[in-house]
Amino acid sequence: ELSNSPSTMLWVIIALNFAPSGPFTILDQSVFHKRYLRKMRDLGEGHFGKVTLCMYDPNNDGTGEHVAVKALKHDGGGNQHECWLKEIDILKSLYHANIVKYKGCCTELAGGKVVQLIMEFLPLGSLKEYIIGCKIGVPQCLLFAGQICQGMEYLQSKRYIHRDLAARNVLVENDNLVKIGDFGLTKHIPEEKEYYRVRDDGESPVFWYAVECLRESKFSFSSDVWSFGVTLYEILTRCDPAMNPPKKLTEMLGNAHGQMVVTALISLLERRKTLPCPKDCPHEVYMLMKQCWNVEPGQRPSFKSLIESIATIRQ
Ligand code: ADP
Ligand code: MG
Repeated sequence: ELSNSPSTMLWVIIALNFAPSGPFTILDQSVFHKRYLRKMRDLGEGHFGKVTLCMYDPNNDGTGEHVAVKALKHDGGGNQHECWLKEIDILKSLYHANIVKYKGCCTELAGGKVVQLIMEFLPLGSLKEYIIGCKIGVPQCLLFAGQICQGMEYLQSKRYIHRDLAARNVLVENDNLVKIGDFGLTKHIPEEKEYYRVRDDGESPVFWYAVECLRESKFSFSSDVWSFGVTLYEILTRCDPAMNPPKKLTEMLGNAHGQMVVTALISLLERRKTLPCPKDCPHEVYMLMKQCWNVEPGQRPSFKSLIESIATIRQ
């Protein structure tokens, strides 16, 4: 039974103020508190990051939501932590139907260090996992390919190069929607420049790289188009492990080892030797891949023209 005495009113005001969603609290939706993040399972990992599915349930009553939480695998400090903060900032600045949505960050209490990136959870995981063995038809392959181009065109409009476009870095929301994820290698290209030079750290996804990336470490919008071509190849092979780009290209290299691999790969690509046409891949689609793998960056199609070509083939 509530009395209207001043002291009760005071307690009500205090309680409302401290309630997580009280009317007097200015809620920063992007601040996630570690104590409310409950780990459900691992979602996957790449070279640098590890992603887990968590339930964020601040009311602790089962009304929470699923989120994907990314953290550095080993926070080596220094430069690595800076790169990590950049990755978070980039994702924060992106808003597009075909790009995974940023939700917020979780900061370690001690030191205020940002440790986790909170994203929307895409229930079907990476395109690579989704597509292996599941016999999706060519129309669905092209639907996904077109959506990847839409996301890439948007990314480019913000002058970002992705540098790691591959099926493992595309996420699946449902049978009709994919989004680009993993902006760990993304770089901003200043207005007056056309490319970005990056030192190779020996962990680069070389089998997705354009020839000028391998030769001169020059990354541009056109080198992303090359990687899109490889991603398109992965989609049309349904990520069949027997057909995957590292395996196929290595077979074509003969017996190059270690450091020689990149040299041999450059020579192979310069001789216009490319990945083979996936079985059941329409000729026009393979032609698109080949255009993306043109040795001359300026001769490759733009994402805008790829969107149109894919739409035409789909009709
Ligand atoms: P890394 O930078 O280490 O490569 P990624 O961001 O590519 O990390 O994530 C690694 C894997 O985790 C992905 O290939 C995918 O399987 C899974 N994953 C990443 N983000 C999500 C997400 N938002 N929803 C569902 N699965 C995800
Ligand atoms: Mg990745």
